[in-house]
Amino acid sequence: MTRSAPPHGLQLLVTCEHASPAVPKELADLGLPRAVLLSHRGFDPGALGIAEAIARTFAVPLHRGQWSRLVADLNRSEDHARVVAKRVDGRLVPGNQLDAAALAQRLSTYWRPFRQQAEAAIAAAARSTGVLHLSVHSFTPQLGGVERRNDIGLLCDPQRPLEVAFCDALKTELVARGLSVRRNFPYFGNTDGFTTHLRARLPVRSYLGIEIECNQRLVAKAAGERKVASALVAALQTLDLAASVPVPTQRAARRSERSGR
Ligand SMILES: [Zn+2]
Repeated sequence: MTRSAPPHGLQLLVTCEHASPAVPKELADLGLPRAVLLSHRGFDPGALGIAEAIARTFAVPLHRGQWSRLVADLNRSEDHARVVAKRVDGRLVPGNQLDAAALAQRLSTYWRPFRQQAEAAIAAAARSTGVLHLSVHSFTPQLGGVERRNDIGLLCDPQRPLEVAFCDALKTELVARGLSVRRNFPYFGNTDGFTTHLRARLPVRSYLGIEIECNQRLVAKAAGERKVASALVAALQTLDLAASVPVPTQRAARRSERSGR
């Protein structure tokens, strides 16, 4: 079913930063075995199909990364030590031993275009009607000997009541569809990332940035990916947060920008 209206009055926009394991030819797989690039270290298996399903259903823009997160991590700030990871799982990444000039070149070629285009679109939506930005990811079910059992994590800034309210409402809908869901799992929602970057720049009442983290135990397989995608789409279609997420008027948006709120 195609539905052009967003789920609750805000414009919806979807990003998928870690969509692809591909490495540009000129970077020669960064000197890594293909198995590393095709693992969770290289991209987020299953995330792109879910992001596409949401964007297609609501007929909204999807901004997706073209290249492996090991080329340049689109969900890290440009001054983050691991925006271009020098090591992965203790292994040297031969193609990522860059001096300052080469790092700047890498970022301007493979990081900045996505970030600038996505940020411009999100900022424009935030300033007109307000925006719900869903950033779709997947996580490995085992990390450092710890098993991560939940199916879905919803990441938000716990200091932002509108984001918390949205996550709680979405969680209720997903749990009703048989998925186990935790807020701010397996990561905190307010550490370095694209949504954190945007929160610092956009008015608090007109930007909601939520990361949806899906367990690769489910979504790395096609059947599980379809199950999670259809549950998320159905949950988003059901939500009506118009009462709890006020859409800012133009004047209110301008006022809150001026006051830095
Ligand atoms: Zn990710």
